[in-house]
Amino acid sequence: MALIVQKYGGTSVGTPERIKAVAERVARWRDQGHQLVIVVSAMSGETNRLIGLAQAITSDPDPRELDQMVCTGEQVTIALLAMALMARGIPARSYTGAQVAIRTDRSYTKARIESIDDAAIRADLAEGRVVVVAGFQGIDVDGNTTTLGRGGSDTTGVALAAALHADECQIYTDVDGVYTTDPRVVPQARRLNRITFEEMLEMASLGSKVLQIRSVEFAGKYNVPLRVLSSFQDGGEGTLISVDAEDAMEQPIISGIAFNRDEAKLTVRGVPDIPGVAYRILGPVGAANVEVDMIVQNVSADNTTDFTFTVHRNEYRKALAILEQVCNEVGAREVSSDDKIAKVSLVGVGMRSHAGVASKMFETLARENINIQMISTSEIKISVVVQEKYMELAVRALHTAFGLDAPAE
Ligand code: ADP
Ligand code: ASP
Ligand code: MG
Repeated sequence: MALIVQKYGGTSVGTPERIKAVAERVARWRDQGHQLVIVVSAMSGETNRLIGLAQAITSDPDPRELDQMVCTGEQVTIALLAMALMARGIPARSYTGAQVAIRTDRSYTKARIESIDDAAIRADLAEGRVVVVAGFQGIDVDGNTTTLGRGGSDTTGVALAAALHADECQIYTDVDGVYTTDPRVVPQARRLNRITFEEMLEMASLGSKVLQIRSVEFAGKYNVPLRVLSSFQDGGEGTLISVDAEDAMEQPIISGIAFNRDEAKLTVRGVPDIPGVAYRILGPVGAANVEVDMIVQNVSADNTTDFTFTVHRNEYRKALAILEQVCNEVGAREVSSDDKIAKVSLVGVGMRSHAGVASKMFETLARENINIQMISTSEIKISVVVQEKYMELAVRALHTAFGLDAPAE
């Protein structure tokens, strides 16, 4: 007998029929003698609908009230799934994040889980019940509802698996595993049997939304065996996210390609090249809680330099307003900006031991006539910023050039 935490995403619980199908899948695992804790997301589209309602009231909703409202999506699905299980004769009980209790810090809309009280869950499991828990939500020390950021039900699943020392955390979604890149953009993408935590962490942080980045961090930290599977198909083994590469010798140079259209680029031109100027530009941006991603400073000419960085597209206007002010203060010439950019990244632990990955990447993009605007590298990834309209072309060309395409059938 194993203790298994299963998480079902929005599309997997998108209709009453899908919820019944989840109940059937849970029943099959239970029939094999396993104990089950099920985490569910809101029905597909529901979280966006709720956020849209808030936005129809005000363009800047209060974060506490936003969380108070947006957590209701998951509350509906937990009860529906518990009903579906009971209708099949399976004892089940649903809990909201607050009822469990999943304690978080106070950061509304992007709270971090601090602790989980597993007593009620353990008692239910001991009584033979299936426990259904709302994803994406928690409660802070003052009893306020918090949410964990978009895609946060993955993190609820992994955190529960860690707290309960579960044998496995299974993330059921609308694809049958982690692919070399998003299969909706590159139909030739290949499913990976395994991927290391390190690589999955890079893929998630560089834009692959199949797993929320914090769920991968949690799984790595607490050594939770994590598997991504399809809720629409039966029998597949999915993708196991594991600590070590199965066989380092066989490790491909590139494991996957991630991309992200959610960024915008800001440049300050003609900045006096004196000590402290980077701080004077980025200090106010950081103080306004705007996260900065890539940063490039040019070699100076005539004692002035250009300074470019990227931010999340949602925070582009805010960052631009700050920069326009800073531009005057530091005596720079002008600010320019572009929110039609995308970041494309190659990820692979095999890159460490291979030179020439960057040049092959640049050669491939040059052949497609795609201009590279910014470059950033680490040991296991290379990212470039390109014009958004070339993003899909760039991903497809690189996927082929690095030998990732699935063999033709
Ligand atoms: P859920 O609602 O189940 O949480 P998500 O939409 O959050 O599902 O995540 C699944 C989606 O992630 C897939 O439909 C796919 O389009 C996308 N995706 C992006 N990158 C990848 C990748 N490398 N492998 C698999 N899916 C990916
Ligand atoms: N329902 C939330 C969202 O859409 C959480 C999740 O699905 O993981 O972001
Ligand atoms: Mg998701």
